[in-house]
Amino acid sequence: MTRVIALLGDPVSHSLSPRLHGPAMAALGLDGVYVAVRTTAPGLPGLLRGIAWGGGAGNVTLPHKTLAFASVDEHTVAARETGAVNTFWLEGETIVGDNTDVSGFQTAFRRLMGDTPARSALVIGAGGAARAALVGLGGLGVSRVGIWNRTALRAQELVERFSYAVPGLIWVSERRGGAWDVIVNATSLGLQTRDPEPFPSSELPLGARILDLVYRPEETAWVLEARRRGHVAMDGGLMLVAQGEAAFRQWWGVAPPEGSFEGTLRQIRAEKR
Ligand code: NAP
Repeated sequence: MTRVIALLGDPVSHSLSPRLHGPAMAALGLDGVYVAVRTTAPGLPGLLRGIAWGGGAGNVTLPHKTLAFASVDEHTVAARETGAVNTFWLEGETIVGDNTDVSGFQTAFRRLMGDTPARSALVIGAGGAARAALVGLGGLGVSRVGIWNRTALRAQELVERFSYAVPGLIWVSERRGGAWDVIVNATSLGLQTRDPEPFPSSELPLGARILDLVYRPEETAWVLEARRRGHVAMDGGLMLVAQGEAAFRQWWGVAPPEGSFEGTLRQIRAEKR
C-alpha cells in the first residue's frame, strides 16, 4: 500500500520538501508519496491523526508546530524541549512527534562555523524556528546567546523558558551592534523579496557570521548582502535538507541516498538562475 507522507501547514505552496523527498523515496524503491496539504488550525489534529492511523506520516510547518505538539501521543526529547513538533509517525499504536529542526539547525551551524569556535550568538525572532535555534545552540555549548524580537514580550518569555538549556541567555532591546560571533535570523523576514533586513547589514559586527533560517528557491537578499560585505553567510537551505533527512530516517528506518537532498536543492537553485 502506498504510504502517504504529508506536509501540513498554511501556507505550504512555497515548500521545497515534496521535491526533496520524492526522488529519494523513488531511488530507494520505497512505496510512498509526499504531498503538501494546506490546513487550518481546527483541521490540523484530525488530519495529522488520520494520516498517521492510515499508516502514513508527515511534517508540520508554520503556523501549526505547537498545535502539532498537542496533537500527538508521545514526544521525543527535541520535541519536548522546544514544545513544538515538525515530524510525526505511528509507532505501534502511538503517534510520536519529533522536532528535527533542532538537529537540522545544528548541522547548518556546524557547517557555517567549520573549525572556528562560536562563543556567542544573537537570535532574531521568537517563534518556532527561534525555539529550535535556542535548544540547538544550548546543545552545541554556545555560552552567550542574546534574543531580540519585534514583540519583546515573546522574546522575554523565551529567556525564562530556555535559560535551563542556554544558561547565558539574555533578552536584548536593540537589534543593532553588539559583539556577536553569529547572527541568526529566525524570523520570516526575507521570505518576500521586499521584506526589510532582519538585522541591518551595515551594522553587522566585524567578522560576525550569518545564519539565515529562511530559505527560498534562491538565496535570501540578506545573505547575499552580508557576503558582499565580507561576512561568511548561509541561508536556511542546509537546515531544510538536514531536518528533512532526519525526518526521512524516522519514517523509513533508512537514510536517504547520500547527498540526494543537497543535490536536489542545488538543482532547484540552478533552475532559478
Ligand atoms: P513563527 O513561529 O510564525 O515566527 C515568526 C517570527 O517572525 C516571529 O518572531 C515574528 O515576530 C517575526 N516576524 C514576522 N514578521 C515580522 C516583521 N515584519 N518584522 C519583524 N519580525 C517579524 O515562524 P517560525 O516557524 O519561527 O519560522 C520563521 C522562519 O524560519 C520561516 O521563514 C520559516 O520558513 C523558517 N524556518 C526554516 C527552517 C529550515 O529548515 N530552514 C525550519 C523552520 C523554520 P513577532 O513575534 O513580533 O510576531
